[in-house]
Amino acid sequence: MREQPPGEDASEGGPQLTAQWEDQALFDAGPTTPPPLKVGEDAARTARRRALLASGWHPTSGRKLRGDDEVCGTCAHCVGFRRHTRTYWKCAKVAMTRGAATDVRLSWPACVLWEKEER
Ligand code: SF4
Repeated sequence: MREQPPGEDASEGGPQLTAQWEDQALFDAGPTTPPPLKVGEDAARTARRRALLASGWHPTSGRKLRGDDEVCGTCAHCVGFRRHTRTYWKCAKVAMTRGAATDVRLSWPACVLWEKEER
């Protein structure tokens, strides 16, 4: 037979005491708010780049946008690297990595470093 702590009734004390502790919150959690949406790394990068482009800055070169109709795809510094079945476009004016962080999109508006591509 289990030994009872002092002051606890053997017939009904144990289970009631446990239920009482489980019902009480340890801290006041405040108003419940939904947890923040978890955004993947790629989605977060896309959102950051869109915000930069909207504010007039090129996400990869970190320079101001030209503000005309030129795009990275027509720039002499835009270089493509084929890897398996894809081509990854990078800017030769900035340090390149093998990751997506230094990719450029051909359709992005050109920055002030843009130079006409010689064909
Ligand atoms: S416009 Fe040319 S220099 Fe500017 S980020 Fe694009 S590829 Fe690089």
